[in-house]
Amino acid sequence: MSKKKRGRQPRNKPAAPAQAQNPQKTAEKAIPQAPKKRSRKIPVLVISLVIIAAGAAAVLLLKPKSGVKPDSELNVLLITLDTTRADRIGCYGYAQAETPNLDYLAANGVRFANPYCQVPLTAPSHSSLFTSTYPLSHGVHDNGFYSLAPEFDTLAEILKNRGFKTSAFISSFSLDSRFGLDQGFDSYDDTFEYEEFLKSFRSERTADKTSASFWKWLDENSGQKFFCWVHYFDPHLPYSPPPPFKAEFAARPYDGEIAFTDYYLGKTIEKLREKGVLDRTLVVCVGDHGEALGEKNEVDHGLFIYDVSLRVPLIFYAENHLPKGLVVPSRVRVIDVMPTILDLLKAPPGRSFQGESLVPQLKGKRRPDLSTYIETYMPREYYGWSELLGIIDGEHKYIRAPKAELYDLAEDPEETRNLYSKEAAAAAGLEEKLKEMIAKYTTQTAAGGKALSLEEQERLSSLGYVGGQALESPTGTLPDPKDKTAEYSVYVYAKKYEYEGDYPKAEEYYKQALAFSPEVAWNYVHLALLYRRMGKINEGIDVLESGNRKLPGNLIILSRLASFYVRGQRLEEAIATAQAVLRIDPQYFDAFYIAGLSLVNMGKWEDALGYFERAMDIEPENTSLELQYAFCLVANGRGAEALKIYERLKNENPRDYRIYQDMAIMYESLHDLNQARENMKQALDLNPGFETYFNYAILLEKTGDLREAVYYLKHYLETTPEKDTPRRLAAQRTLGDWEGRLGNQ
Ligand SMILES: [Zn+2]
Repeated sequence: MSKKKRGRQPRNKPAAPAQAQNPQKTAEKAIPQAPKKRSRKIPVLVISLVIIAAGAAAVLLLKPKSGVKPDSELNVLLITLDTTRADRIGCYGYAQAETPNLDYLAANGVRFANPYCQVPLTAPSHSSLFTSTYPLSHGVHDNGFYSLAPEFDTLAEILKNRGFKTSAFISSFSLDSRFGLDQGFDSYDDTFEYEEFLKSFRSERTADKTSASFWKWLDENSGQKFFCWVHYFDPHLPYSPPPPFKAEFAARPYDGEIAFTDYYLGKTIEKLREKGVLDRTLVVCVGDHGEALGEKNEVDHGLFIYDVSLRVPLIFYAENHLPKGLVVPSRVRVIDVMPTILDLLKAPPGRSFQGESLVPQLKGKRRPDLSTYIETYMPREYYGWSELLGIIDGEHKYIRAPKAELYDLAEDPEETRNLYSKEAAAAAGLEEKLKEMIAKYTTQTAAGGKALSLEEQERLSSLGYVGGQALESPTGTLPDPKDKTAEYSVYVYAKKYEYEGDYPKAEEYYKQALAFSPEVAWNYVHLALLYRRMGKINEGIDVLESGNRKLPGNLIILSRLASFYVRGQRLEEAIATAQAVLRIDPQYFDAFYIAGLSLVNMGKWEDALGYFERAMDIEPENTSLELQYAFCLVANGRGAEALKIYERLKNENPRDYRIYQDMAIMYESLHDLNQARENMKQALDLNPGFETYFNYAILLEKTGDLREAVYYLKHYLETTPEKDTPRRLAAQRTLGDWEGRLGNQ
C-alpha cells in the first residue's frame, strides 16, 4: 500500500514503512504518478483512478523517450541530504535500503552514478554547492567561525534577481544564518529548538519538522515562481531514527535515519503534487558528504578524504523536462549542480563558476570523468594535525599529506593499496596539477576581495584556526591524521558514549582525549558540556577555567565559560567573561546573550535590554532571544511592546509552548488573570510537564479554582525531578494549606 495514505498515525510519527520485498515496486508506489493535467477539484476517488491509469501507462511505456527541455518558468526545489552516503540508497545499489522515494525520483528522472563532494564537511560543502566554487575560493574550510563572504553570488541571489521567491528550511546549526548561506533568501528558517539556551552543533531539527515548515510555506506561496532549499540532517550522528524506524532499524540505525528522511522527502514531493506545481518544478537531491561508518579507521566524516565520505547521491527530476530513468555513469561534482540548475532555467552561467553545466550529460551525452580538488582542514583546525588536500583526476586519487597517498580508483575503489612509492611519477604529476589548482583558485579569492582583515586573522588564530595564507604553504611538520586515528577514536568513542547516555564512560574518554591533546580547545569544551549534562556545573567550570589558563583568550573556551558562570549563578563573573569575549570579537552573539541573561538573573532588566538588542541585530530571528527580550520589556513596564512581539511569535511558531507561558506571566503582571490562565493552559496542552503543572496550579488558585489547583499541584509534585529545592518545599506546604481550605469549604 502507498505510504502516503497512512494518515491515521499520531503526530510526528510516520507510518511503519511497508517492507520492501521488491524495492522497485515500492519505489513505483511511493509517489503516485500524477494526472498529466493539473486539476485540484477532482474528487478523491477519481484522482486515485487516474493514478492507477497513469501508473499502468508508465509500465507499458517503459522509459518513455523525453529530452531535456530548459524552461525559465520552472520552480526549483533543492534538497540537500546531509551525511548521506550514496551507496546506502536503493537506487545506488544498496539492497537493504528503504528509500522508495529517492528511488522513484531516480527511476523517473536522472541519476548521477558517480558524484563527488569537494570537502566532507557541512558548511564548506554547502558553500561549494551554492557558489560553484572550491573551498580554496569561498574560503569556508570548516563548520563554525567561517562565514561565506557577501561578495559571492549565490544560487539563491541569482534566482532572486531573476524573480524567484526564495526560501530555505534548515535542519542544523552548521548552516545557521550567521555562517552566510542565507544570502539571497527572502526567508531562512533556521529557528529550530536547540539544546539549552544557546545553539550548539548538536542542534538539529528532524525531517518531519523541517518538512512541515516547508509545507506551510508552500501552502501560502505555491502560486509564485519559487526556489526553495530544504536541508535534511537526520543521518548525522547520533544515529537515532524516530519510531517506528527505530525498532525496524535497530541493527542499522544509520540506514534507519536515511529511511526516515526518505519518508518525509516523499511526503514533500507529494505536497508539491497536491499543490499542482510538481509538473513545473525541478527537484534536485544532492548529498553534502558521506559518512565513513568505521571504514578507513574513521567513525564519522571530516577527518579524511577517502571516497566513503566524498561520494554523494545526486538526482535531477522534472516531469516533462528531463529524461526518465537515465543514469549518468561519469564522475561529476557538487560544484556542477548550480551551473546545471541555471542552465536548465535558461540563465547564463556566472563568470566565477568553477563547476560546469551537466546538461550535456542530462541529454545522455557521454562525457569524461571530471577532475576535482578535494580537501579537509578539520584535522588541522580541531586537532592541530595536518590538513589533507588532494585531487581526483582520471582514475587516480592523490592525497597530499605528511605521508602522501595515491590510489587507482578504477582498480581499487576501496582505496586499500597506496601506490605513492610504486608510481612516483604519476604521483608527482598529480602533485603538480594540485599545485596548479591551488594557485589558480586561491588567486581568484584574493581578486574577489575575500582577504581576511587583521582583526579576523587574529580572531581566527586565537581560535586555533588557519588564516588564508596557510593554504599556500606546503605541509610541514604537523602529524599525519592517519597516525592519529587511535587518538581520534578516543574522542569519537567519548561522543558515542555521551550520546548513548553512558556518562561515566564518556567522562573517562573525554579525559583521555584531553590528556592526549591539552592544546585543543574543544577537548575542554566537550568535557565541560558532558559535566553540564551530568548536572555538575562546578566541575564544568573547573575544566573551562583550566582551559582558559592553558589557552588564554581562546573564544571557544571563554564564551562557554561565560555561559557556565550563568548556570552556576556566578553572574558577575559571567558578565566579566562575556565582556572579555566582546573585547576580542565585538560581534560575538553568544556574549551579548549571556551578558543579557546574567543581568536578567540579577533583576537589572533595563541593562539587559541593551545587550539583547545588540544580540538581535546579529541574529534577528532567534525565538529564545526574542522571548527573553519581551520578558525584559514586561519587567520594564513596556507590556504593550512585548505583546506585539508575543503575537508575532505566536503566529510564526504556534506550537512553541514557551510563548504562551511567557504571555501568561505577562498577563499576570498586568493583573489580567483570566488571560494569564488561558495562555498557561495552552502552554500546558502543548508541553505537559512539571513546570507547566506548577505554573498552571498557581494561576488556578489565583482565579479561584481551588479544586483544580490542588489537582495540578499534586501533578507537579508527582512529576518533578526536583528534590529539596525551595520550590518543591514551598509547593508541599502550599498543597497542605490548599487542601485544608478545600476541606473547610
Ligand atoms: Zn553535512
